[in-house]
Amino acid sequence: MSKRKILIEPDSILRKKSESLETVNTELRNLMDDMLETMYEAPGIGLAAVQIGILKRIIVLDISKEPEKKNPLFLVNPKITFKSKKTSIYEEGCLSLPGQFAEIERPAECHLDYIDYDGKKNNLKADGLLATCIQHEIDHLDGILFIDYLSKLKRDMIIKKLVKHKKELNKIIL
Ligand code: ZN
Repeated sequence: MSKRKILIEPDSILRKKSESLETVNTELRNLMDDMLETMYEAPGIGLAAVQIGILKRIIVLDISKEPEKKNPLFLVNPKITFKSKKTSIYEEGCLSLPGQFAEIERPAECHLDYIDYDGKKNNLKADGLLATCIQHEIDHLDGILFIDYLSKLKRDMIIKKLVKHKKELNKIIL
């Protein structure tokens, strides 16, 4: 396994739509392992392949709080089949928007079909933090970031901060 570089907004790749996969093979499982390692090290609770620059419909998640009780979830080609009318609000952050957080309202419950780590068709009913996290990550596969749900003013403020942050990161590297 190896850690990959996470793309930071603004980055045009983060705005592209990811493609569905035909099969889950060893190469893809290696990629999922890398994604999981990258997510744990960040640290984060969810990562979409596009965030490491790969435009494929793959998500890794782990919302378990204690590091010794890891419970990773791998979702390939996730497709939401049901969204509840009831909504919930969580303060969301994103590994591609470091240091930025905002309260976002989303359906409180969702059901989805997906392909798992072993390439088998599977489905899941999620609520609470998991439902929010899944919807946040699926948005990534369609080029959507949580700041898109904010007013233009708030969104522009966050992007301005991130541009500054990226410049500082580059200075350190150079
Ligand atoms: Zn994110």
